[in-house]
Amino acid sequence: MNLSEQLSMTARKNRHKTAYIFQDKETSYMELDVAVTKFASRLQQLGYKKGDHIALVVSNSPYFIIGLYGALRMGAVVIPINPLYTSHEMSYILRNGDVKGIITMDVLLEKFEVIQDQLPDVKYYISCESEDDLSLANSPLSSKMKSLSQMVAEGSLEFKDPGTDDEDTAIILYTSGTTGKPKGAMLSHQNIYSNAKDVADYLTINAEDRVIAALPMFHVFCLTVALNAPLMNGGTVLIMPKFSPQEVFRLTQNHNATVFAGVPTMYNYLLQSADNHQDYFTGIRLCISGGAAMPVSLLKNFEQTFNVKVSEGYGLSEASPVTCFNPLDRPPKSGSIGRSIVNVDNKVVDELGQEVPPGEAGELIVRGPNVMKGYYKLGEETAAALKDGWLHTGDMARMDDEGYFYIVDRKKDMILVGGYNVYPREVEETLYDHPGIAEAAVVGTPHPETGESVLAFVVAKDTELNEPDLLAFCKGHLAKYKVPSKISFLDELPKNTTGKILRKNLREQIEQ
Ligand code: AMP
Repeated sequence: MNLSEQLSMTARKNRHKTAYIFQDKETSYMELDVAVTKFASRLQQLGYKKGDHIALVVSNSPYFIIGLYGALRMGAVVIPINPLYTSHEMSYILRNGDVKGIITMDVLLEKFEVIQDQLPDVKYYISCESEDDLSLANSPLSSKMKSLSQMVAEGSLEFKDPGTDDEDTAIILYTSGTTGKPKGAMLSHQNIYSNAKDVADYLTINAEDRVIAALPMFHVFCLTVALNAPLMNGGTVLIMPKFSPQEVFRLTQNHNATVFAGVPTMYNYLLQSADNHQDYFTGIRLCISGGAAMPVSLLKNFEQTFNVKVSEGYGLSEASPVTCFNPLDRPPKSGSIGRSIVNVDNKVVDELGQEVPPGEAGELIVRGPNVMKGYYKLGEETAAALKDGWLHTGDMARMDDEGYFYIVDRKKDMILVGGYNVYPREVEETLYDHPGIAEAAVVGTPHPETGESVLAFVVAKDTELNEPDLLAFCKGHLAKYKVPSKISFLDELPKNTTGKILRKNLREQIEQ
């Protein structure tokens, strides 16, 4: 079984059920499945074959779903790319990923026009929004352009089954990587199918669910949790082109959403916009947080304000992505990423790879059907990440006596102050505990005496708040060596398009 076959099966059972809602328009499973097959057949007619790499550079819309499932149906390998990347960033991934076709949007064509000479292997640029030949004719790429809508309209329901195997690569995810160039994590059909199924089972995502897809679909968290998991079970995806608290409140009200999945910064924005909207989450049975550490005070505040439970999980691109989640049949533990989901093993090991006892910190390693095949064309990096079948996550964690895991921090974000380990997350949690703080991020900087020192960046809710008061608050809660040597007040913190706070950019700012 793979995602595309599963969609056809789900569509046969749920012909007239709504697969997704976009801009208040509903599309049924049958309509979606037909569009996917027609698009797949046209890709074959254009000469694409099983194993060809096709990039998907599309923002949250039905086109993303048709593009993804259509390309998978004819056996292509899909490479989702952030539409906000520059031409330069795209060019690297498209060349490194040996891409032969690009599914994109009219507004992005300019980005490809300037790099088309670097991409001789790209046979076609398939634009989603172009309804007619006219707009395509105006582009310098016109000789290589196709319209997705036209392809769907003209496609046939006859297409050659490519005969994909479980082990065949289905998706390559280029992970941002804090050092060097992005690496392409190769996920097989089994990897992505099994994780969507295991997550859906663990979180009981079912045909009655209406899941808000607020995160960018090119990111694996949205892809698996808010797209593939509901679509394999006959649920409805509420497509949000761009995140805003008001749009989330509108979807919970007008479309009876039952599940919301977001990163912590989204929960923060929702909380800041909570005035008079406290009852907007009453229909939501489950809020899912992942992608970055959820500060405990934010989680508690959110749960109290909206009277809803938030379940935190953990994952990474290389694991398709989910490895842990708080179980639904008992109260979630705040600050914990939960327990291993079904079929996936997590354990905490020391530098020598030996499992450490509960309570002790070490590197989190993961094994299961969701773990990637390796990095595309990077044998050494693959060998470093996958040892004896275990994926080394680069995240420091500890496990309690009940098998709940807690992320301490990224291994490489740890700060060494006078020989003591400081994990930025612990200092950030303390700052979030202060009622005047909206956001916080902590990084290390070189220090002549202590090796490194702790620097904090905050966004204050309250303009009266000042550095001495906040430092006094930290001194009351943290050992001396963990207290920031300086706290800078910013209007906002740098974030990536998924909403993760970028400590890397703060470090660069300090260097400059
Ligand atoms: P990505 O591959 O872009 O999905 O990023 C994966 C990384 O996000 C992980 O290696 C973690 O560092 C971080 N991450 C994901 N979920 C959590 C979480 N619940 N708590 C802390 N860090 C997380």
